[in-house]
Amino acid sequence: MFLMSLKGAMEKVIIIGTGCAGLTAAIYTARANLNPLVLEGREPGGQLTTTTLVENYPGFPEGIDGPELIMNMHQQAERFGARFRFGVVEAFEPATGYRRLQVDGEWLEAQTVIIASGASAKWLGLENESKFKGHGLTSCATCDGAFYRDVPVAVIGGGDTACEEAVFLTRFASKVYLIHRRDHLRASAILADRALTHPKIEPIWNTIATRYVGDAQGELEAVELLDLKTKERSRLAVKCVFIAIGHTPNTQPFRGKLEMDPNGYLLTRKGTQTNLPGVFAAGDVADPIYRQAVTAAGQGCAAAIDAERYLVDIDSARLEEVGTSLPLY
Ligand code: NAP
Repeated sequence: MFLMSLKGAMEKVIIIGTGCAGLTAAIYTARANLNPLVLEGREPGGQLTTTTLVENYPGFPEGIDGPELIMNMHQQAERFGARFRFGVVEAFEPATGYRRLQVDGEWLEAQTVIIASGASAKWLGLENESKFKGHGLTSCATCDGAFYRDVPVAVIGGGDTACEEAVFLTRFASKVYLIHRRDHLRASAILADRALTHPKIEPIWNTIATRYVGDAQGELEAVELLDLKTKERSRLAVKCVFIAIGHTPNTQPFRGKLEMDPNGYLLTRKGTQTNLPGVFAAGDVADPIYRQAVTAAGQGCAAAIDAERYLVDIDSARLEEVGTSLPLY
């Protein structure tokens, strides 16, 4: 039989990732009786697990903790029969008529794959960084900006994201320092201008952060800075530091196999489908623009519906026919 795997059963759907996109895809495909296998990678639960209160996810008027929201989605998917397995995808092969994923050394096979592996925020890599995440250190102004009303905050970065986040934060913060390692911004002219002309935003040029400083409760209260030109060191009192030095989409196993933009984000067409039939992408892995929990969930839902329709449309015989016309790499 064409779809029989030599080793294990051919899965109908494998979902990669357990953030909002992956878990929503799991809920929908499980409810559609597709018995999805969901792979949890190095950051189970995705970026929401690194934030505290989520106030902008519809349906929770008092807000909900990021980890709790993810746990609820996980349980909801399990209730409908989704199966979860820890495993990092190491390789991907667009085999004829089905797809192969190497997970911790084992090859898994599936008729459809939903890639919801997310994007990881880049961090500075300072020694005491992990200690302050969620305690005055974050990578998402939209998620956490409203917690810092009438206090000074800092944004680190010089690109479009840093400028957008700095301007967004002026709604809440008393002052926003924009700390950049160069003497000019990389951001597009319009966003740079909007940031630099804002009365609440003060740029600090040619400067890097070298250390986070906490108070007795472990909340961030300052950041130590180094002026790269003068070599002077200083301490800046801020209640929150927003790191905006870019995201890296988790698409490494798919390089050279699936179409991506120059930054490595998966490109989709016809809804959530990638350039390969039966392979869909949802959430931050394919979205450099919105990057919100609710948009990721929406895209996860769309990918599940796209996968379900693909499976309905293609019976075994037709799948073989389509498979022979798939691009092979
Ligand atoms: P980005 O353009 O890659 O900019 C990252 C910034 O962080 C750069 O200024 C970089 O400095 C700095 N940086 C990187 N590593 C650093 C480190 N270790 N320490 C200190 N600074 C560091 O990233 P992005 O701003 O997130 O934008 C990503 C993409 O999304 C871009 O294509 C952008 O145009 C797009 N985007 C568009 C919009 C919009 O159009 N509304 C909004 C957001 C993002 P250097 O300048 O020295 O390299």
